[in-house]
Amino acid sequence: TQPVLSVRNLEVEFATRRATLRAINGVSFDIAKGEVLGVVGESGAGKSVTGLAVIGLIDPPGRISGGQIELSGTRIDQLPPEEIRRVRGKRIGMIFQDPLTSLNPLYRIGDQIIETIRTHTSLSESAARQRAIDLLAEVGIPAPEKRIDGYPHEFSGGMRQRVVIALAICAEPELIIADEPTTALDVSVQAQIIALIKRLGRDHGTAVMLVTHDMGVIAETCDRVAVMYSGRIAEIGPVQDVVRNPLHPYAKGLMGAIPTLAGEDKRLVQIPGSMPRLSAIPPGCPFNPRCALAFDRCRVERPEPVRHGAQSVACHLFEPAKETAA
Ligand code: SF4
Ligand code: MG
Repeated sequence: TQPVLSVRNLEVEFATRRATLRAINGVSFDIAKGEVLGVVGESGAGKSVTGLAVIGLIDPPGRISGGQIELSGTRIDQLPPEEIRRVRGKRIGMIFQDPLTSLNPLYRIGDQIIETIRTHTSLSESAARQRAIDLLAEVGIPAPEKRIDGYPHEFSGGMRQRVVIALAICAEPELIIADEPTTALDVSVQAQIIALIKRLGRDHGTAVMLVTHDMGVIAETCDRVAVMYSGRIAEIGPVQDVVRNPLHPYAKGLMGAIPTLAGEDKRLVQIPGSMPRLSAIPPGCPFNPRCALAFDRCRVERPEPVRHGAQSVACHLFEPAKETAA
């Protein structure tokens, strides 16, 4: 069956005065209906840029310089601004880290939801209001028939993020992109918000792209996970495979960073060094300066993704041996 989101060989470049930097370099993945794909990696790996590319929000001096993005079979990467804006409101819902970037502080939250519903459906004002109340109830806002007339500042951070989620799903999008949706929230409400996003994806058959640096969130929430490094996918596969049996040396290091039991420090694997800046990505495998298993080929040749069971991994250790010339 056709995936909801299909990204193929995506490239994103940022032009600076000195050079053109490639922030995304050949990223490919699919997300199926009702599936949650986690995108994980250190900051600067290209997770957010990938999400922004999908929703057409790469602003100059950045641009999509290669590849293609399809939403339910339709190309969306080359749409004119007004068309991608319509796709964004209707077919793709967005949840960002800070709920206040999505909510206008001067408007009652209900008015914002009702306006979005009415922009994308033919519902009457009163029907849209009832639908907004139902949505607020669905995302766990108590007494929604009263709270609908409240302003964003009258809600706690967690409740505000629930409102943003209601706003993101109100036009029944095919895809939700959530970028660090819980990072700004109290630890006590993070799990609830993650559980809510997961449940909504299931209940509505929505595809979800969940960008996070938190491996614990990935392990609890996602069906599949893509591990990004220096603008590429190092490894992608079913979450239980990638978490239990990571193949890529970088993914192995990340998985070592999942705290398992409360109070017990299981950060056994430390990855020395840090991810290179975009202007200083080394040739070959971008991870080679930090990789304990690097060999000569890693410093000159870029590893391409290869299938390994249900996983796909971009590492020379997993390439089928090349026939040696006599
Ligand atoms: Fe390490 Fe080489 Fe694999 Fe890169 S390709 S992760 S440097 S072994
Ligand atoms: Mg980010």
